[in-house]
Amino acid sequence: MNWRDRFSKFMYGRYGADQFSKFLLGLTIALCIISLFVPRRLGSLFSTLILLLIFYTYFRMFSRNIYKRAAENEKYMRILGSWRNKVANEKNLAGQRKYYHFYKCPECGQRIRIPKGHGKIQIRCPKCNATFIRRS
Ligand SMILES: [Zn+2]
Repeated sequence: MNWRDRFSKFMYGRYGADQFSKFLLGLTIALCIISLFVPRRLGSLFSTLILLLIFYTYFRMFSRNIYKRAAENEKYMRILGSWRNKVANEKNLAGQRKYYHFYKCPECGQRIRIPKGHGKIQIRCPKCNATFIRRS
């Protein structure tokens, strides 16, 4: 049996790599690079963190509890997804600020988008029907 067969036999029934382990690997590499620039007294803290990360990454890959590892990966993907959404929303909002004012309803706090360039106008909140005057 060559090493490749041995390895696939060893990995049989084990979880293997996923997106979360790629993230952990990236984090480990980032910490390795950062650790080159941190003060010496923080060095051992960083090496401990890096070792723990490596240990955890391998623990996950060789784990036989596939269900639990998949759940962890799903959680990671959810967090990543919501974070990406948030960034996209912020970008979208930044683009819209050129053409719109954003006001909060003084009554209920609802965010209202008003096109710019119409002078002072009365705004009616679509949620609670309160009216208020703002510059557009
Ligand atoms: Zn309102």
